[in-house]
Amino acid sequence: MMHFDIITIFPKVFDGIFGDSIIKRAKENKKIVIKIHDVRDFSLDKKRRSVDDRPFGGGPGMVLSPQPLFDAVKKIKGRKKAKVIYVTPSGRPFSQIHAKRLTRAGNLIIICGHYEGIDERVRQHIVDEEFSIGDYVLTGGEIPAMVIVDAVTRLVPGVLGKEESLINESFEANLLEGPHYTRPANFRGFKVPDVLLSGHHQQIEQWRKAQALKRTEEIRPDLLSQKER
Ligand code: SAM
Repeated sequence: MMHFDIITIFPKVFDGIFGDSIIKRAKENKKIVIKIHDVRDFSLDKKRRSVDDRPFGGGPGMVLSPQPLFDAVKKIKGRKKAKVIYVTPSGRPFSQIHAKRLTRAGNLIIICGHYEGIDERVRQHIVDEEFSIGDYVLTGGEIPAMVIVDAVTRLVPGVLGKEESLINESFEANLLEGPHYTRPANFRGFKVPDVLLSGHHQQIEQWRKAQALKRTEEIRPDLLSQKER
């Protein structure tokens, strides 16, 4: 079973996203466990529950202090082995290759930053890997944490049903997925390609591969020469 522990100052934002569809079913089927931890519960300032402070050397914004994050990770880890991830725009770009590898970690602890980010000593001393979900800056690490939990969960063996197969998905074999069509065959004059109605499985397969390659060449030619980053 895969365990995710998420450390955040906004625990409520996770309520909806993990309560539906495939993630909900994965939890019910005991394929995954997701626990959300409020950083403020680890604040030593019991009255104000503060967890951040101004940056040394000046500058705008606030920085999440090391103590609540160190203590949260220590408590969550206990005696179990876990990989600690920090989501940050300055991390390595998160990809399907990483998602696959993380399914083998067993226990993942994800730290969500906020404001200017987190004290560098957390990154140096307790974080194992850092991931960015794209070249843009979000207000907090909660959405990136959701992205990682979702991408990893659907790759955990037994989570997807037959109808949600991973075969021919985007990023398998470094290709984007080709187009899909469903009924009707003619929708307001827009027709489904004849080959898909032919019943000729080999030709359909060839057509799908060619479409996937065409789409990848057009939109993500970088994937065609990509190795694990
Ligand atoms: N000052 C930071 C910088 O320039 O890299 C940005 C901080 S951002 C406003 C607050 C938090 O959101 C970060 O600590 C990180 O946890 C999260 N975050 C924002 N954009 C992200 C991205 N593209 N990928 C992963 N995490 C991100």
